[in-house]
Amino acid sequence: MPQLHDHLVPVFEEIVRRNAGEAEFHQAAREVLESLGPVVERESHYVDSDVIRRLCEPERQIIFRVPWVDDAGRAQVNRGFRVEFNSALGPYKGGLRFHPSVNVGIVKFLGFEQIFKNALTGLPIGGGKGGSDFDPKGRSDAEIMRFCQSFMTELYRHIGEYTDVPAGDIGVGGREIGYLFGQYKRITNRYESGVLTGKGIGWGGSLVRTESTGYGAVFFAQEILHAAGDSFEGKRVVVSGSGNVAIYATEKVHQLGGTVVAVSDSSGYVVDDTGIDVELLKEIKEVRRARISEYAAARTGASFVDNGSIWDVAADIAVPAATQNELDEHGARALIKGGVRVVSEGANMPTTPGAIRAFREAGVKFAPGKAANAGGVATSALEMQQNASRDSWSFEYTEERLQGIMRSIHDRCLATADEYGMPGDYVAGANISGFTRVADAMLAFGVI
Ligand code: GLU
Repeated sequence: MPQLHDHLVPVFEEIVRRNAGEAEFHQAAREVLESLGPVVERESHYVDSDVIRRLCEPERQIIFRVPWVDDAGRAQVNRGFRVEFNSALGPYKGGLRFHPSVNVGIVKFLGFEQIFKNALTGLPIGGGKGGSDFDPKGRSDAEIMRFCQSFMTELYRHIGEYTDVPAGDIGVGGREIGYLFGQYKRITNRYESGVLTGKGIGWGGSLVRTESTGYGAVFFAQEILHAAGDSFEGKRVVVSGSGNVAIYATEKVHQLGGTVVAVSDSSGYVVDDTGIDVELLKEIKEVRRARISEYAAARTGASFVDNGSIWDVAADIAVPAATQNELDEHGARALIKGGVRVVSEGANMPTTPGAIRAFREAGVKFAPGKAANAGGVATSALEMQQNASRDSWSFEYTEERLQGIMRSIHDRCLATADEYGMPGDYVAGANISGFTRVADAMLAFGVI
């Protein structure tokens, strides 16, 4: 494990002690702290003010019961979470995840990442995250609605346009945001568009929000390629996952002249050397909500693999877009062997520390999620802007804004990495530039 700066050792120890057993939060915090060595070395006011220790403690953590009734008339109970981590730059902002793996440690790691990601966008948004251990898989529409209504019946008192603005994440898409917004409006008797993002286009949503996380991760990879005088033209790309991020990453790769040859879900992966048919993928995943094997069944030339790793598929570029820690050192070595040059994280922390080290040693350009997948939340902030001005922008204009934001995040990461003597290190660049923006605002406010 890389060393932590002397000042940061007790900070990390306190995180581990206070958040016992929350492995993903420890991992996310350690990665940021490892990057901050040169910052505390050079700028002692960050040490004297103890701002790093304060930043690692969430401002507020809410845990609540979510009771609901299933289609068989049985009472069910889930646990709901909202971690309001940091509001130095704006209202808490970040998605809601509905997945059986959700617990307070997962929400905390996601909220922590969100602080720096949101800071990198340059937009006025703080960091937070929420969700539930509810498993939407196999649930009827009516069950999803009743769950969302119950979830919002508690959450509504903690959120607001100027307080905390949730959105989607794994298991929460347009349908769920609709049920959540409807219940918020009903309880509060306020049509407060800015309280949630990812809304439908007919009732306050923004064009491009659906596509933005996947498009953004590909725009980021495009910036990396451009910096090396290269492009997506003719490149083979592997995208893990087949949810919202993976689908729109695939769509954008194809628009830019590359070919996505594999996508996956928790049951396995499909290989399609002629290029994944995005419309078929959307039909299977968004309409039928079915398994990825149905893709191979419906498409000649495609094959389904249920007992292997998608990282064994040779590619020039990889976009891990499924979930945390899905790409380990073993997967990284397989990708390196297959000739990968660029990795752009579409999911949050999909790459383990060992895998990141392997990429660094092999000279693979690695873009961390807090920079590469910031396009989703950035477009959420654009949705908030449109809501505040009661305006709605065209697809072309919004996509142009997204692309500009991704370019400036890329440039800021590179410039910061240069400034601190780690040229080309996007992890250090993202962590340091996200940190300084948040810490400087916190310092301006005094000890808070
Ligand atoms: N869940 C997304 C993320 O990880 C989007 C959050 C948002 O739009 O608020 O950044």
